[in-house]
Amino acid sequence: MALIEVRNLKKYFPVGAGMLHAVDDVTMDIEKGTTIGIVGESGCGKSTLGKTLMRLHDATSGEVRFNGVDIAGMKMKEFKKDYRSKIQMIFQDPYASLDPRMSVGQLIEEPIKVSKQLKDKHQISKRVEEMMELVGLAKRLKNTYPHELDGGRRQRIGIARALSLNPEFIICDEPVSALDVSIQAQVLNLLQDLQKEKNLTYMFITHDMSVVKHISNEIAVMYLGQVVEKCDAKELFKKTLHPYSQALLSAIPVPSIHGKREKIILKGELTSPINPKPCCRFAPRCPYAKDQCFAAEPKLRDMGNNHQVACHFAGEL
Ligand code: SF4
Repeated sequence: MALIEVRNLKKYFPVGAGMLHAVDDVTMDIEKGTTIGIVGESGCGKSTLGKTLMRLHDATSGEVRFNGVDIAGMKMKEFKKDYRSKIQMIFQDPYASLDPRMSVGQLIEEPIKVSKQLKDKHQISKRVEEMMELVGLAKRLKNTYPHELDGGRRQRIGIARALSLNPEFIICDEPVSALDVSIQAQVLNLLQDLQKEKNLTYMFITHDMSVVKHISNEIAVMYLGQVVEKCDAKELFKKTLHPYSQALLSAIPVPSIHGKREKIILKGELTSPINPKPCCRFAPRCPYAKDQCFAAEPKLRDMGNNHQVACHFAGEL
């Protein structure tokens, strides 16, 4: 059994003109100790998916099972008591997500105090120092403030806060996008080392295909609230079947003086996510769109090797 099982998850937001389908019928399994990368342009619903999994948003419908228990449908009080600490999130901009008035030590001890996992002052202080060591923050930084640190160290505080409650599942929402490239690699390596050491399960949300290739076991490509392609990470880069994924991958720079990949520039209007029609949402931008694409919604189907694609013409393009 997978650690996380998502079944037909929907998150709609009421807006003036109707319902905005931010997450629309998403189904996926995430095995313990693995990383699933969630990729797509901004506004495709990837962050809303992460926030719905950890109940920062309540699902409109569908199930999220954690070790077989439906956590999306349970009472919030029960979720907070039994599951909040097991699912944690690391945010994109560490500076914006950290209270500038709190020192490093106070920031890391805050979730421990709020969860009441530990009550003894000395035990809390010991846990804070253990977390600092784990994420590579020197003890002497305990009384410094976020503005005195560089972006990489600030993100290490965010990681220490997430780890302080001994979670099993961590949703990393663009955790390296705001960092310099040299620091990105350090933080990614730290996340991978921690995963091995603690058998953590990650959902890694990003718009950066090179980062997701480096860190994921599996990748799900999202477009306007829906998963349009999902498979093993290596398979996606070897055999990209959905036209939208092909466009995303074509944007990755090739590190070679010989290799030059042609970038696919998408033209056409973006479909509105408000009350979308039952057709392929990518059709107005798809270079291969035919009449059928505007008349019927393609469902995810298995193309072999657990490679799922939502395109009427997958394998023929
Ligand atoms: Fe393109 Fe049609 Fe496939 Fe949609 S279903 S991705 S429009 S070919």
